[in-house]
Amino acid sequence: MKLCVVGTGYVGLVAGTCFSESGNDVVCVDVDERKIAALKRGEVPIYEPGLEELIKRNVAQQRLTFQTDLADAVRRSLIVFIAVGTPEGTNGEADLSAVWKVAEQIGDAVNDYKVVVDKSTVPVGTAARVSAIIRGRTSHPVDVVSNPEFLKEGAAIEDFQKPDRVVIGHRSERAHAIMEELYKPFMRTGNPILFMSPESAEMTKYAANAMLAARISLVNEIANLCDVLGSDVEDVRRGVGLDKRIGPAFLFPGVGYGGSCFPKDVKALITMAEAHGLPPRLLRAVDDVNTAQKTLLYRKLAAHYGDALGGKRFAVWGLAFKPRTDDMREAPAVTLIEALLAAGASVQAHDPVARHVAERIFGDRIAYCDAPYDALRDADALVIVTEWGEFKQPDFDRMRSLLRAPVIFDGRNLYELGTMKQLGFTYYAVGRPAVRPE
Ligand code: NAD
Repeated sequence: MKLCVVGTGYVGLVAGTCFSESGNDVVCVDVDERKIAALKRGEVPIYEPGLEELIKRNVAQQRLTFQTDLADAVRRSLIVFIAVGTPEGTNGEADLSAVWKVAEQIGDAVNDYKVVVDKSTVPVGTAARVSAIIRGRTSHPVDVVSNPEFLKEGAAIEDFQKPDRVVIGHRSERAHAIMEELYKPFMRTGNPILFMSPESAEMTKYAANAMLAARISLVNEIANLCDVLGSDVEDVRRGVGLDKRIGPAFLFPGVGYGGSCFPKDVKALITMAEAHGLPPRLLRAVDDVNTAQKTLLYRKLAAHYGDALGGKRFAVWGLAFKPRTDDMREAPAVTLIEALLAAGASVQAHDPVARHVAERIFGDRIAYCDAPYDALRDADALVIVTEWGEFKQPDFDRMRSLLRAPVIFDGRNLYELGTMKQLGFTYYAVGRPAVRPE
């Protein structure tokens, strides 16, 4: 099939690449000329494991191309995906300006029957409005479908190619058949395509993210209780997660969720509830707990040093909002580092892939280290913000020899309390008793 994907970001680039990998002709479109030029040169603008090889292969086979000309891409495609960003607006609502703009451009370009697919995360009612915008600009038949994306950054290819489920919201049998055909190669593991109304599909995406965010905020609140009551949340988490009704996923306490989805999607759902006079009590609490949790590490540091952080130097391991991505949108590391700098401390940071993004945020206000151990040199303590695999079994002796003092603030509960005690570290984790040398 011939299709185009408008918006070549974390979702659009992965979706377009995976659709080309299953044999379709795909044009990826973006307004960002630099991004398209880089992709044409064979450079991949984001870090996502496995993506570069897939892009290379499909570009070489001439099934995957990149361009800025949206109208041309629409005219050559049967299916047009909208995968542009829908960031947080000024009052917490989803900012849909890019979606409306693209809908207008699609409406002006349509030359035959098209299926237009909302892949971006968009509030309930968006497919109806996209449809009205396009129909207002063309007399050609167009079906607008809602097909929210559930991939996780860091495992995006696997998630896209083997989805737990695909959700398609539509009101057209013709579009139903086309979408079913398009997704057939991805459903070989037997997981279902769920067909529903566009309004239900749009809500399914927000509901999924709200549920996951709520689990994280709940376990973080439990961790904070463990902290003051002397329980160890790692034991509690295991004890709870083995209950089949609960399950172990998304029960890891930490420094709050970040990224381009949970924070903005919870807020957008709050604004949807408020717009209809429903008090979003639980959603607000989820968001409030998270906002507070992002300051947890800073509070632990301030408590340890008696608020005297000025002049201290801290090593920070992990800048991206989670491992295996370079995405730093809403990353807890940003909250922490800004607070440390404001308190007069200095930061030397290491992240395996996010350095180029961090440089755009902090410029020369922090020092960047290409190797994790370089960040430790002469630092007063190590602060772990992102649970990259390579931080899980470090050389503790080497760490101690590089740090000014053997002090670790671990926002991801990576190490055993017993080991830390044995090695003589002062160790603060989340929801676990602090370890201090006797
Ligand atoms: P992104 O910011 O990485 O990419 C968006 C792209 O759209 C950018 O390259 C931007 O230049 C382009 N764009 C903006 N306006 C445009 C226009 N008028 N015409 C053409 N291109 C335009 O965003 P993302 O993370 O890929 O997210 C896209 C959507 O998918 C959002 O709604 C997001 O909530 C949703 N989503 C994201 C993820 C994720 O993990 N990132 C997962 C599921 C769903």
